[in-house]
This record gives sequence, C-alpha cells and structure tokens, in this order.
Amino acid sequence: MGEQIKYQSRGAYQDLYDESIRNPKGFWARQADLIHWHKPFDKVLDDSKPPFAAWYVGGQTNLCYNAVDRHLDQLGDKPALIYVSTEVDQEKTYTFRQLHQEVQIAAAMLQKMGVKKGDRVLIYMPMIPEATFAMLACARIGAIHSVVFGGFASHSLASRIDDAKPKVIVSADAGSRAGKVVAYKPLLDEAINKANHKPDNVLMVNRGLIAFDQVHGRDQDYTTLRKELANAKVPVTWLQATDTSYILYTSGTTGKPKGVQRDVGGYTVALAASMKYIFMGEAGKTFFATSDIGWVVGHSYIVYGPLVAGMATVMYEGLPIRPDAGIWWKIVQDYKVSVLFSAPTAVRVLKKQDPAYLSKYDLSSLKALFLAGEPLDETTSQWISSAIGKPIVDNYWQTETGWPILAVQRGIEEMPGKLGSPGVPVFGFNVNVLSEDTAQPCKVNEKGVVAIEGPLPPGCMQTVWGDDERFVKTYWSSFKTRQVYSTFDWGIRDEDGYFFILGRTDDVINVAGHRLGTREIEESISSHSAVAEVAVVGVADQVKGQVAVAFAILKSMDALDAAQSKTLEAEIMKVVDGQLGAVARPARVYFVNVLPKTRSGKLLRRSIQAVCEGRDPGDMTTIEDPTALEQIKASMN
Ligand code: AMP
Repeated sequence: MGEQIKYQSRGAYQDLYDESIRNPKGFWARQADLIHWHKPFDKVLDDSKPPFAAWYVGGQTNLCYNAVDRHLDQLGDKPALIYVSTEVDQEKTYTFRQLHQEVQIAAAMLQKMGVKKGDRVLIYMPMIPEATFAMLACARIGAIHSVVFGGFASHSLASRIDDAKPKVIVSADAGSRAGKVVAYKPLLDEAINKANHKPDNVLMVNRGLIAFDQVHGRDQDYTTLRKELANAKVPVTWLQATDTSYILYTSGTTGKPKGVQRDVGGYTVALAASMKYIFMGEAGKTFFATSDIGWVVGHSYIVYGPLVAGMATVMYEGLPIRPDAGIWWKIVQDYKVSVLFSAPTAVRVLKKQDPAYLSKYDLSSLKALFLAGEPLDETTSQWISSAIGKPIVDNYWQTETGWPILAVQRGIEEMPGKLGSPGVPVFGFNVNVLSEDTAQPCKVNEKGVVAIEGPLPPGCMQTVWGDDERFVKTYWSSFKTRQVYSTFDWGIRDEDGYFFILGRTDDVINVAGHRLGTREIEESISSHSAVAEVAVVGVADQVKGQVAVAFAILKSMDALDAAQSKTLEAEIMKVVDGQLGAVARPARVYFVNVLPKTRSGKLLRRSIQAVCEGRDPGDMTTIEDPTALEQIKASMN
C-alpha cells in the first residue's frame, strides 16, 4: 500500500517490518515458535473470507498453559503474580507454582458450577488476585471470559450480561478507591435484576468490606469452595487456535457497546512477539502495568503478556498518589520492575505532585516507561523523561487490536523516538494514512484516516461477539472503494514514516485513557425525566486529556435560577453515575434552549467541541439556528 517508506532504521526494524508485510504467513509461522503448541497448525492463515482472518488453523494450544504451566520447570518457584494494594494495605506474591494451583482451584470451582468449553463467564471484580485466577481458569478450561470494568454501574453491566449471556458471574463484595469502599455486590444484583439473561451462579469473593445479601442457591462463596477444592487438579483443555478466548466490550458511536472477540492461538503468539520486540520482556524479570483488568491493557499486559513471557506481573490496587506520589516508584524499587506501563493521564497527575518523589527510589532495574491509551503531549513526555531519566515509549493501539499498532520497537532496534509521535508501524500492521475520499495513501504530513490493510495480524479482534455483520459494517466499510480497517483516528505520517495521531473521526471520547461513546452518555442523560434533548462532547482537559461536557435542553421552558441549575446538574450526574458509572460522568451539564444542528437535524458535536475549546467552529453554512453556538458559548461563562 503506497510507496516504500525508509525508516530511520539501521536495518533490523526495517527488515523485520518489511518481511511481516511482504510475507505475513512466513513471518507469523516463525513467530509461532515463541509459544507452546499441543498440535501444530495446518495453515498459518485462512483469509478466504475477507475481512475475517483465521490464524493458525488446525493448531491446538492454550493461553493458560502458555502463561503458567509452561514455566513450571524453569520458573516454578519464581514470582508470577505480585499483588500490591495500598487500599487494603496488603502485599502478596504468588510463585508460578502457587499461581498454577490457584488457577486449578478456580477452574474446579467453575467446573463445579457446570461451566464448560465455550460457556461465558463474566468477571466483575476489583484488582485482586482472584480476578486473575478467574481469567486464567477460564482460559484453562476454554470458557470465554468477559471482564467488565468494576467502575461500570448496573445499566452498563446489565447490557453486557444480556449480550454475553454468562453462565456464571465472578464478583466480589466491594472494591476500594482512595480508601473509600466501593460496593460491587448491590450493583451486580441490580444489574442481574435488570437483565433478561440470568446467570446460574454468582461466585463471590468476600473481602469483608461490606455486608451484603446472598441469593440462596445462586451465590457461592469463593473461600468455602477454595477450601473444599484446595488440591484440585484440572488439566488444560486443548483448544483450537481459532476458538474464542474472551470478549471485551468497548464503546463506539452507537449506544450499544461492542463485544470485541479474540481468539486463542493468534493472541498468544501476538502477545509473545510484542513482549519480545516491543516491551523488551525477559523471563524472570518484573512487569508492572498500572491499568485495570477491565481494560484491554489489563488483559494483554497485566495478565497474559507478561506471564506468557515468563515475567512476574504486578497487580496494583490503588492510586498513583496514595499514600504519596512515590508509590509506583517504590513498587519499581521493591520488586525490581524492569518494564513499567501506564497512561499519560496518570503522569499528568504525578506532574502536579512534588517531583522529589520521583528521585527518592532506586529505579536502576527499570528499562523504560511505556505509555498508551491517549495522545502523549510533548511537555508531559519531556517532564517524565527528565524526572526519571529513562526512555519513554509511546505506543498506540486499541481494544480491537489487543496489542500495539504503532511504537518504536526497542526490542528490535534502538530507533530514535519523536516527541508527540507514538512511532512507526509495528510488524504485522500494514498501517497507513488514507484520504477519506479516495482511500489512497495521503501525502507526507497530509491529514487522513489511520487505516490498516487486511488481513489484520494475529491477536486482533476476530469479530464483534454474535454479530459478524456489525464487524464488517463498523470497521471495514468506511471507504467506498476498498475494504480497509478503519481505526477511526485522524493522523499524519511524516517524511521519516513516524505517525502522529490527531484525534477521533467518530463520536468517541477519551477520558483519562478510558474510551467512552458520547451516545451512551447522551442516552443515559436523556433518561432523566426533565431532559428533552442532549449533546455530549469531549473537551480538552489538562489532566484527563478530555472530559465529557453535556448541553441539555429541558422539557419545561421555565428558566432555572443558579441554585436550581446546580441541583438539576447534580441530579443528572447521579443518573449517569448510577447507570454507567462515575467514569462516564460529565464534568459539567449546561442547560440551553437550542442545540446546534444541521438543517437535516444532525447534531454538530464537533462545532460544539470547538466552541468549548475556544476554537473556530468551522464552516457553519449548514447550521439550522446560528444562535445555537452563541448559547453554548454563553452557557459556559
Ligand atoms: P481503547 O480501545 O480504549 O484503548 O482506545 C483506543 C483509542 O485511544 C485509539 O483509537 C486512539 O484514539 C486512542 N489512543 C490509544 N493510544 C494512543 C496513543 N498512544 N496516542 C494517541 N491516541 C491513542
């Protein structure tokens, strides 16, 4: 696709990348040696039904085996899972052997509840070891897990329960944030009540944080079962490489989240390759990703990636600034972390703290800090790089791809980074910047849509869970002339082949690295009885990158005084909190009489956003009521 780019590579990166694009089958057949196969594959790739791609057809393997069992001989007594909680003041390390047993126990619990290969298990849990045990247990027996971020509330959870139809839900009484208990069980019960689908059982980890109601016959106690099954031996179920390992829901332009469905074999190989070539992972060393298991980073780089590479992984329950801003760096020192992975938003939070915390601990074990999930601005990048004196590696990817699309791949070759750029294409990703109209590559430094030529490499989504048509329609139909995967990000590519990401082409916003659909938030706000219509946009924020801001038209035309506005705003925020979770709560709700729309009735969200950020709203010839934008401007003052 397009002309050949010469990267600032001395050869190793250029060679590896070029081979992965020129001869993907040969390249990925070789990478498959990074993992264990129970039965070798017959065919590296079946792409006979584009845009679907089936990797390692006929091969049999298991993600849990590769993450745990395979390391028992060499690393059995070495740390595998390091749990650190500054919320409940606990630290506990599990060796690979101990993890192996805990996973077998959890697998036996699931089997006891009738879970079989292909059944779904929904995991709604805080950052505690049992969440990792449950994920690996599913992978071990071929059950498909669907982890739902613990910050999501009952409505979000109910819609995921109805889509995934889990046989069992694994949950806990509560999480904790900034020392305050966050109840999970009441939200879960509410979600199950709301959902049409009912799980047979709920497996409850009781942390003793809250008192909760038990549903007789349905709810099972983890600790009791653990005792009963303490010596359980559950052999690995060998799975087809193309079987489904998990579903992870992500926001899009519609109100209904999409279940990103991933395979077993391709994902394991992609993670192993990424650990080697991107993250410089080494068996026996420690990896610390500060994300949450509810997000894709948590799946790929808290649980599976590091373990597949034979690394210990840190599971951290807590904030980056509590008890103080030194906590991450203390963890790096105490557990000799060699790779740290976080998000720009967390670094921007640290930037507000005393920088002395960053030089207080011994960071000699740390090779690099990886940042992903949202644009990394130059000042934040420079600040953290000089504060810790380590390379900062920006990397760009999506829930859909499961692993990085763009990065400077230091495990292949030390190539220079460029400030503001997540780097160059990762091997396997035939990624380019395409003209929105012609689907042809843009010129150097010309803005276009970041798009990937099919077939997608191993590890990427297989389809949308239960909806192949939506997969094709959503991701592969942006361009009229050609079937290409759209990332829905704007970008440019410079003369050296480095990409720069310029924001989303759709109505998805990114709050503190969390992806939210404005439509979902609008639907939630609209459910408040006073609201007639609403527009939600993402507005630039110094710490969170973006925040959601809502503009609502009320059913009643009576003007509100300041106190009434405040009360209603708080009520609306509460509705969003209750339905979607605090993560989706708008930073402000403003009340207006009219919203900017085209004459055909389409909300001009981008113009609203521009006005909110003090930018020019652009061409306004199609606007129905030109005073609408003035109202937006006035309401914010
Ligand atoms: P998610 O699927 O939640 O990980 O969100 C993926 C989206 O986050 C991408 O489509 C981008 O809009 C944004 N994103 C992720 N990583 C980066 C990065 N390194 N630089 C800029 N934007 C990013």
